[in-house]
Amino acid sequence: MSPIETPEPANDAAPAKGRLSQGIKSLIVLAVLGSASAVAGLVMAGRTNTPFSETAEAAIPVPLAARLVTAWDAVEMPVVERSEGKLERNETLTGLLTRIGAPMREANAALHTLNGKDLIDSRRLLPGKTSAEAWFEDGALTAVSVRADADRSVLITRKSDNTWTALPLYAKLTPGYMRVEAEIESSIYSAALARGAEDQQVADFASAFAYDIDFQREIHPGDRFEILFETYYDERGNRVRNGDILYAALNGKAMQRGFYRFTPSDDGIADYYDQNGESATKFLMKTPINGARISSNFGNRRHPISGYTRLHKGTDFAAPTGTAIYAAGNGTVQRASWNGGYGNYIKIKHSKGYETAYAHLSRYAKGLKSGQKVKQGQVIGYVGSTGASTGPHLHYEVYVNGKPVNAMSLKLPTGRKLVEDAPIMEEFKTHKAMVDALRAAEGAQIATAALTVSAASGEAAAPPTP
Ligand SMILES: [Zn+2]
Repeated sequence: MSPIETPEPANDAAPAKGRLSQGIKSLIVLAVLGSASAVAGLVMAGRTNTPFSETAEAAIPVPLAARLVTAWDAVEMPVVERSEGKLERNETLTGLLTRIGAPMREANAALHTLNGKDLIDSRRLLPGKTSAEAWFEDGALTAVSVRADADRSVLITRKSDNTWTALPLYAKLTPGYMRVEAEIESSIYSAALARGAEDQQVADFASAFAYDIDFQREIHPGDRFEILFETYYDERGNRVRNGDILYAALNGKAMQRGFYRFTPSDDGIADYYDQNGESATKFLMKTPINGARISSNFGNRRHPISGYTRLHKGTDFAAPTGTAIYAAGNGTVQRASWNGGYGNYIKIKHSKGYETAYAHLSRYAKGLKSGQKVKQGQVIGYVGSTGASTGPHLHYEVYVNGKPVNAMSLKLPTGRKLVEDAPIMEEFKTHKAMVDALRAAEGAQIATAALTVSAASGEAAAPPTP
């Protein structure tokens, strides 16, 4: 469908009562389109990936140009007034429309059209964000536009028989790129948001680095980060939303590394790769829990309960009771049952001779049992203080061929290495060059070579707490 065609419900295609009313209606449509920027800047339903392209009820496309000609043919110019407003706290859409001048009965009739149509997601009706416009002709409400999403609004117009019809309008968005590069003062989150990134970009950044870095412990003031991400602009040049991260880098004390988001054509799985084409994804996650602080490291220590000095075979993460614990890697549950001083205990067998164990749990994930396969990042249980424990924490152990090792300083097998597959590596190089060019265009001094493989320093530097 051409961007300038608009589908309409079939019943709206009935012959208009008179030429003038047809003209007025077109004028209103024109007024609405005009107010929402250039006519050509709006794409009517039919964009791919929208529910409407499939479900527009018996849509009969009417070329918009034809309707505009009709509009200009109308001899009498109706008095069209317009008002607008933003949704306030505890306000309904009807409340908003009446506040901007619509008579209650007409506002209700117009909004009633939306019932059962799924044109507006009520969860997207947010105070301060959702806006509405109303058009009046000789004091009567003739059209309403409700904008609940940055790139879509719903236009409700009064037909010649005084019934109402609703139609989604899509803004035509122009893709662009944005680069954020800054020193971390308090957190990556606050620094990134202050510069135009959104929650999703920070979450993507964190997931790219989740295997390499403990964000609680290994990010220091003065460390720098960079994020290049897609962004979308409307016809008026307003940035309406952001898209995927293309590049993420951390240049800090604990680590200097950059990752390119890349989707190899053979498996179609998007992942983050460093400049050598090595996946950021690791065999095991560095910490199988979020938001916890390490309360005791791997190594010899005096046991807080027995008083004897002996090897602490794991890493302790202090966290509130009930905090979710994740499977560090794909594997099979070997045990999910009480284990003496370990309390409620889970052991998972991974490939390559690796095993991980999780102790002192308050409870197991629903239905978890031995023999079950689990995926990396899947919730397997919750923090507690069962067994010989002095407070809620996760005691986490990693074994390699049956021998306990320090999970925090472990050199882990990595994920996919593109270099092992020449055609895919070529694809990656082309993609990387494109992203580097975008970074340069957005002000980056390209220096990925300096961001070499993880320094992996700082491990076990903190003395074990008693
Ligand atoms: Zn422990």
